[in-house]
Parts: sequence; C-alpha cells; structure tokens
Amino acid sequence: MSGPHVVLAGGGLAAVRTAQALRDLGHHGRITLVSEELDEPYDRPPLSKEYLLGTRGADDLRLATRDEYTRQDIRLVLGRAAVGLDLRTRTLTLADGGEIGYDRLVVATGARPRRLPDLPESGRVHYLRTAADSRRLAGALTGGARVAVIGAGFIGLEVASAARLRGCRVTVVEAAPQPMAPIIGAEPAAWLRRRHSERGLEFRCGTTVERSEERPGEQVLFLGDGTVVEADIVVVGIGVVRDTAWLAAAGLETHQGLVCDEAGRTSAVDVFGAGDIVCRHSAGRCRPTGHWTAAADSAARVAATLAGVPHAGLGEDGFFWSDQADLRLQFAGAASPTATVVSGDFDSGKFVVHYTEGDRLTGVFAANAPRDFLRGRLALRSALKEVRT
Ligand SMILES: Cc1cc2nc3c(=O)[nH]c(=O)nc-3n(C[C@H](O)[C@H](O)[C@H](O)COP(=O)(O)OP(=O)(O)OC[C@H]3O[C@@H](n4cnc5c(N)ncnc54)[C@H](O)[C@@H]3O)c2cc1C
Repeated sequence: MSGPHVVLAGGGLAAVRTAQALRDLGHHGRITLVSEELDEPYDRPPLSKEYLLGTRGADDLRLATRDEYTRQDIRLVLGRAAVGLDLRTRTLTLADGGEIGYDRLVVATGARPRRLPDLPESGRVHYLRTAADSRRLAGALTGGARVAVIGAGFIGLEVASAARLRGCRVTVVEAAPQPMAPIIGAEPAAWLRRRHSERGLEFRCGTTVERSEERPGEQVLFLGDGTVVEADIVVVGIGVVRDTAWLAAAGLETHQGLVCDEAGRTSAVDVFGAGDIVCRHSAGRCRPTGHWTAAADSAARVAATLAGVPHAGLGEDGFFWSDQADLRLQFAGAASPTATVVSGDFDSGKFVVHYTEGDRLTGVFAANAPRDFLRGRLALRSALKEVRT
C-alpha cells in the first residue's frame, strides 16, 4: 500500500467521517482508528433521545457497518486509549503500553462531561456521553421516579423531556435565569420554560447546587436559593471538558481544546484535529466546537487537508438541533439582545426568531419550523460571509 499511514485517535463521528472521507478522496495508505471504547463507533445525539426512550436500538446508532470498514480498509483498534504521543518519532502510546507509529495523526478524542464538584459519584448520579451511560440512565428512568436534572442546556432538557415522557417527576436546576438563556436569549428562553412547565417539568432557575447529601433511598440537593430537591436519581448536564493534558505534554498547543486552524492543522506538522476536541482561536477568543455538524464539517476539512485538495465546505455557523419531547429546536449563529419573531408565534410553538445587531443578522432560532429555519440559516451564512470578507 502506498501513501502515508493515517492514525485516528478517537472513535466517534469525527474519526469515522475523517477515515471515510479520506478513502473517498482516494487515500491509498493505511488507516487505523484507535478508540478507548469497546463499542464500534456510534452516533451520540440519539443517546439523549430515541435510544434513551428505547425507540431506537444499538444497531441503528452505528456510524458504519463492519462490512463498510472492511470494504474501505479502515482498521479498528477498540478498547485501547491513546495516552501519550512522541512527535519526533511519530508514535502514539496506548494505555496498555502498546505503541502505534503514524505518518499523520488525527486527534478526534471528543469531550467528556464536566463533573459537578461536591456531588460524589454514586449509583444515583448520572452523566451522559456514552451508549453505556444512556443504557444505565434508561434503566433508572422508571415511572414515578423523582429525577433532578442539573443544567438546562440542550442535553439536560432532552433528558428531562425523556424522563417526563417516561412518567418521572422532574425538577431542573439551572444557574441562568431561564433554560438555555445564555444560548438563545431571554425571551425565547422564557417561552421554552413556559412550554416545558406546561408539560410538567419543574424549574429552579437562577440558582445552583451548594451541597448534596446521600440519604437512605435518596439524594438531597441543597440549592443556593435555600430550597431543597429530593431525588431518586440526579442527572448532571453542565457542559463538557476536553482531555488535553496528554496532548500538551507532547508539546502541542492546547487551550480549551486542541488548537487548530480552519483546515484542522495543529502546531505540529503531522498532527491534525477534528471534532469536539478542537478549539479555534479567532478575534482574540478561544472557540471550542461542540456540536454534531461542526464535528462532521471539521472531519471533512481535515480529510481534504490530508488529501491536499481544497475543502468546499460552507464554513462553521454554530448550528445545532435539539429534540425536546414534541419540540424540534434549531439554532445557528449567536443570539443578540434584539430577538424578533419573523414567522409564526410563541403561542403556537412554531416560530422563527432572528437575532440582529443593527442591520446585521447574527443568529437564527426556530421551534418546529425547519423550512423557515433553513431560509434564515442561508441568510445568516451570507451575513457571516460578508463579515469574513
Ligand atoms: C447525549 C448527547 C446528545 C447530543 N445531541 C446532539 C444534538 O442533538 N445535536 C447536535 O448538534 N449535537 C449533539 N451532540 C453533540 C455531538 O454528538 C458531538 O458534537 C459529536 O459526537 C462529536 O464527535 P467527536 O467524534 O468529536 O467526539 P465523540 O463523539 O465524543 O467521540 C470521541 C471518541 O473518542 C474516544 N476517546 C476519547 N479519548 C480517547 C483516547 N485518549 N484514546 C482513544 N479514544 C478516545 C471516546 O471514547 C469517543 O468514542 C450530542 C452529544 C451527546 C453526548
């Protein structure tokens, strides 16, 4: 086989998409994907949605079949974590002491849930990142269970909605004044809270967990506002952290993630980054990526960079979607204090909001209005292009 040996550290969307795109672009060298998980690579969004609710099985989550890996000659090394890197000898060290040499390395190790300090790990406490986490959580979401969800970001609200559909009694604790307020802005966030409240979610917003006690049969959370939440299970969804220590130790530039340029290049010539592990520095800010579309886009970029062809992508616009019970939410860009409903209305639960600064469109948010959202997103892309040029 001719061509460089590409090793992918990580076994999620970004690693698989990079490998597949490389083959599509005619890469003839070896491709090896090294994942710490024993499960074959799978897609994560259903873990807080259909998989958690049991309406999609594990086979449906696979990012590729065994046959596809064989056909594309992508070698999977599963259940082995990368823990060290020697840039000089181009060697990846694995947790079991094994080593893999590479010509080009793509780091696609994703992110991990941020732990809540002062909440000891116990059978009652859940975090959600892997299929195993989702299975464990599904087993605990039984009818009538008291569920405390800490963090009303998109994963917290998806889990809270799923728990409600399972007949649980759900309390959501959120530091911001409204759920998702830092992302979608005050007015849409107030609507979202009303909507979820009507469906039985109880909110404690503008407060945080100060301490917690495990008592027989329950976990008790003491909140900063003086109230108490008694729960059978606690689900924490307060964002993610990126495991960069081993990359920094190897000499790579890291910040909130692995620092990469738009083409996925890192500070080392033969090392690239894709997916949630990546952060980009622009306009003096560190911007970590953390959504599905951005991960897929960065994989396509890295593959193009490795293959030496231009990438035809449209550019990152911060798009994500979130399914919360009967709501399909879609967001792109950035919220601003000026949020205008441009189609539909809050009452119907079907609308599109445009965020503007002066005349400039900065972001789009929609509930149950995919077509109108798409129109807004295209307008946003044009606006972003103008800013970049
Ligand atoms: C529950 C959940 C729901 C989500 N829902 C949505 C959604 O609705 N919309 C949306 O836009 N985005 C959603 N996302 C985000 C989206 O799934 C991620 O952006 C995407 O999975 C990122 O892909 P990735 O390959 O970079 O990282 P990951 O998917 O995290 O994959 C990284 C892989 O690398 C492995 N790994 C980590 N460290 C090492 C190591 N040192 N050595 C070897 N392997 C390692 C990990 O175990 C993992 O298998 C969701 C995420 C989660 C967790």
